[in-house]
Parts: sequence; structure tokens; C-alpha cells
Amino acid sequence: AITEEEDDENDLIPRAPIVTVMGHVDHGKTSLLDHIRNTNVIAGEAGGITQHIGAYNVMLGDGRKITFLDTPGHEAFTAMRARGAQVTDIAIIIIAADDSVMPTTREAIAHAQAANVPMVFAINKIDKPGANPDKIREDLANMNLLVEEWGGKYQCQEISAKKGVGVDDLLEKVLLEAEMLDLKANPNRKATGSIIESSLDKGRGYVSTVLVSNGTLKVGDNVIAGTSWGRIKAMFNERNQRIEKACPAEPAIILGLNGAPTAGDSFHVLETEQEARDIANKRLQLQREQGLRTQKR
Ligand code: GDP
Repeated sequence: AITEEEDDENDLIPRAPIVTVMGHVDHGKTSLLDHIRNTNVIAGEAGGITQHIGAYNVMLGDGRKITFLDTPGHEAFTAMRARGAQVTDIAIIIIAADDSVMPTTREAIAHAQAANVPMVFAINKIDKPGANPDKIREDLANMNLLVEEWGGKYQCQEISAKKGVGVDDLLEKVLLEAEMLDLKANPNRKATGSIIESSLDKGRGYVSTVLVSNGTLKVGDNVIAGTSWGRIKAMFNERNQRIEKACPAEPAIILGLNGAPTAGDSFHVLETEQEARDIANKRLQLQREQGLRTQKR
């Protein structure tokens, strides 16, 4: 195992919350994320987000930032959690006001609860003639989830993801929830974090999207993730611009690993390439031994 550095209290500074949107198919997850992506940009950076990298960081008009995880469905959320990655700070549960709380919605809620991740409810499609947001609040109350406007503890916002109505208020509620979590990280240490997705690119070799949870990740760092390792050759942001470093709660695309670690694998930065290689080899050996044992059974 890799021993974690202790953080000095004085090094800790606030970091952006990491948010996942979950809900039943067609309830508007994509529309909401598209709207947020298109209306909020990182200051000083022209151009929109040109590629899908599984995570992106947006800055609101007043300078506050939120990192969104945009992995397909909550399968990724579960898969990541199964691998021990607690990547999400806050879950937005989106429910269409012209529908009901669906089985997938219940599943998403159960996942967030099991992970102890606070939820903010977004009642979507309120522009539709058939919208009945009170019906959704009632469905939730029947699950023992009482929303704030009905005297409960859960923040809830009516939105139209399509028209952009209520989305700013929703983000405000997310940030309020984040404030209560008092999220902090230490940028002055070697980075740790999670793999969001990996692939093999014909031109660039193995490419991974990572999310830094603590420390600062830099070009030239020696990284271990799962059984893959390597020295970071180059890093890019969600706008496909070259970057030299990624701070806590920021995603980055990294080049230079010798394999494709699995979503949810944690990554660590080590002093030397040799250390990273040694740990990878030990993990590979362990995997082989476990494989042999299962074969014998
Ligand atoms: P997802 O499957 O949860 O990602 O849902 P989408 O974002 O793809 O939305 C499903 C459908 O609902 C699409 O046809 C959207 O245009 C529509 N939709 C999403 N949000 C709204 C909304 O606020 N109002 C209306 N009228 N339609 C919406």
C-alpha cells in the first residue's frame, strides 16, 4: 500500500465541489449538463468544451467553481465506488415533472445514500403543460425524503433544463450544500486522485482522464494507477489546451502511462519512475497469484 502524506492544517485551502447528476433516462440529465457547460466557462479561456472527457470544471459568474463528473449513467458512479473511489461530493437527482420517481431514480437515490453523498433534487421540464412538480415532491415524501419547501431537509429546485430556467438557482443550492461540507485540499503536495476514464488513442498512446482530489499534478510527475505507470509527458484540459498542472478538484487528460487503468482506480505520484514501476510489478504479481489460486479451485 502507498502511505498517504499527512496534510498540515495550514496548507488546506477551499476546493471546488465535485458533482454528479443522476436520474432516469430522458429526465434531462444531458440537457442540464449541456446547459451548464454552455453558459458557464472558465474565465479567460475562450471557446467551449470541445471534447468529452468525463469531467469538467465550470466557473460561475462570481468566480465560484464546480466540477461536474459526466460519466454515462450512474453505472460509473457505482463502479467507481465499488473500487473504493469516493469521487463525488454532491449528487443532483434529476426527475422529470411530467413523469414520476422511476426505478432508476430510486436506485440513484439509494447509491447516493449508501455513499453518504448529500443530494439536491432538480425537478425538470416544468415548462411542459403536463408538469406536476408537487406530484414529484409527494413521490419523494413517500420515500421519506421531505424537500425543504415542505419542511424537510432536502434542497429542491424546479428547473427547465431546455429553457435554462432555474438552473442558476439549482447551482446556488449545490454551492450552499458544498459550503456545509467545508471542502478543502492541499495544493502543496504530490497529487492523488481518481481515474475517470482511459482509452488507447492511435496517435497519442494511452490516454487517461484523471480527477485530482488532493495535491497538484504536474507534467513530468511519475504516476501509478492500478497496474499502469509512467511519467506524464503532457496534460490537457477539457478544452484540449495544453496545461502544465492540475489543482485539487480539477480534471486533466494525461499522456504517458503504459496502460489504461480502470475508472475508479486511484492514482498516486511517486518520487521516481522506478518506485512507480516497482509498485506496478508487485500489483501484477499479486494479480497473477490470485489468478492461479482461482484456477486451482
Ligand atoms: P437524459 O436521458 O436524462 O440525458 O435526457 P435528455 O437530456 O436527453 O432529455 C430527454 C428529452 O427530454 C429530450 O428530448 C430533451 O429535449 C427533453 N427535455 C430535457 N429537459 C427538458 C425540459 O426542461 N423541458 C422540455 N420540454 N423538454 C426537456
